[in-house]
Amino acid sequence: MEELRKRILEEGHALNKDVLKVDSFLNHKVDTKLMYEIGTYFKRYFENKGITKIFTIESSGIAPAAMTALQMNIPMVILKKQPSKVLNLDVCQTTVHSFTKNSDYELTLSKKYISEADKILLIDDFLANGEAALGVERLVEGIGAKLEGIGIVIEKSFQPGRKILEEKGYDIYSLARISKLDKDVIEFVD
Ligand code: 5GP
Repeated sequence: MEELRKRILEEGHALNKDVLKVDSFLNHKVDTKLMYEIGTYFKRYFENKGITKIFTIESSGIAPAAMTALQMNIPMVILKKQPSKVLNLDVCQTTVHSFTKNSDYELTLSKKYISEADKILLIDDFLANGEAALGVERLVEGIGAKLEGIGIVIEKSFQPGRKILEEKGYDIYSLARISKLDKDVIEFVD
């Protein structure tokens, strides 16, 4: 997506070789028009795949996921990051390692908001090692539903997430794919 690449080049800031900050339009201040455009791209790619719900993970996936859900006219469910396991039979949880915080959290989903018949589209802001997506897979499959596709705003293609998820057969659609990051360096795949 050309406009997204432009914004990443103009406003993105590589903290190091691994982490990109895009606080001015995605992770802190949110450009809702850009998010709406992003929703248009995800809708176009995923609209004929029988998706019934969009899942995202709090908090930075919410804006692009909401705009996609709005345009696909289906519900969005926000998976919560709890610090520890809860003793509650109404929720399912799985431990996920956070790429940016280098610590674990409990990805949490209320069983009320998913059924066996659901075909889920995961929308997230970044793809790095694929830990968050694999956590969503465990929750969705644990219920007997299907993770049908994965939509990513910014994929860091030099990290292993895409390969791991592709080997599992997932359809991953990323709007910007970064091949290299470093101080003052942001390069894209292609
Ligand atoms: P993964 O689970 O694929 O290893 O990492 C993806 C998650 O970590 C995303 O949900 C995102 O919030 C966060 N993340 C990974 N890499 C970056 C990055 O370079 N910048 C920002 N802002 N978040 C990242």
